[in-house]
Amino acid sequence: MRVLVTGAAGFIGSHLADHLLDRGHAVVGLDDLSAGSLGNLALARARRGFSFVEGDVRNRIAVDEAMRGCDAVVHLAARIGLRMIVESPLGTLEVNARGTEVVLQSATRTGTPTIIASTSEVYGHSRNFPSREEDPISIGSPTIGRWSYACAKIYDEFYALALHRERELPVVISRLFNTVGARQTGRYGMVIPRLIAQALAHEPLTVYGDGTQTRCFCAVEDVVNVLLEQLERFGSITGEVFNIGNPVETPIIDLAKRIIARTGSSSTIEFVPFSDVYPAGFEEIMRRVPDISKAQRRLQFDPRVSLDATLDAVIASFNAGAVLV
Ligand code: UDP
Repeated sequence: MRVLVTGAAGFIGSHLADHLLDRGHAVVGLDDLSAGSLGNLALARARRGFSFVEGDVRNRIAVDEAMRGCDAVVHLAARIGLRMIVESPLGTLEVNARGTEVVLQSATRTGTPTIIASTSEVYGHSRNFPSREEDPISIGSPTIGRWSYACAKIYDEFYALALHRERELPVVISRLFNTVGARQTGRYGMVIPRLIAQALAHEPLTVYGDGTQTRCFCAVEDVVNVLLEQLERFGSITGEVFNIGNPVETPIIDLAKRIIARTGSSSTIEFVPFSDVYPAGFEEIMRRVPDISKAQRRLQFDPRVSLDATLDAVIASFNAGAVLV
């Protein structure tokens, strides 16, 4: 198979490219290098079967060029990271809504099966735990920048499913819950690379709020495995939405303590009020838990990599000189 990976120079995209090449597939990587880096693609670029197109997903010419001759698309390119999102809701909407439209329209013209990477953020303030794919969504007010991301992503889902119904686009939606692992940058606020960098520098670990908020962290290796499974079973899952995550829930304060223990750091924990980090009116999500029974049933999804193993891998990558924060 020849697979177009948008956002290939990013964290998940570069792992997916490596994994597809390992399995003997050809990969076309499309990335504008605004957040990702060619360093993430060092392994992929040295291998046969990989080609790279530098371009923005909002650019129809670049997208059409990258799509040519591909048998499938995994659309990962996006503005992500709370810091980036609250700072620029406009960029979030333009890249995540308009960019996805361009990719989906190109895929529709060529009939190319497409996986759209969505996000657990679309569940918003939902109080159904664990969250199921068919649950109602409950995003916050448009006056709060954070919700621009969920709004763009849920629009992407609606648009993709409308193209599926009305234009026969083969499409699958994957809602990813906090994917973590080596190559993730802390530049846009992601908690694990940030806290590990702080621990390795023996600086205080910044836990926002009181640290009782929880997240479910899923190793990138488990995520790319199930994306590949989706590509291979595309015909039987087209038009469907899947939660992709690891249901093990971790309070952020526990995460910070584990990072201190695993790095052997002398760091302390500093509780930072949300109001010191985000603009007035910021709304934190206290819990997010995926119900993955559908992915287990239909894709034999079985997230196996423990959080501790992932923390050790990220710590090792920092110690090996990864400069990401
Ligand atoms: N967080 C934290 N300290 C940091 C960065 C993040 O306590 O330096 C918290 C953040 O408030 C959230 C959790 O860690 O509750 C996960 O944050 P991240 O941005 O990684 O993911 P998201 O909030 O999008 O799930």
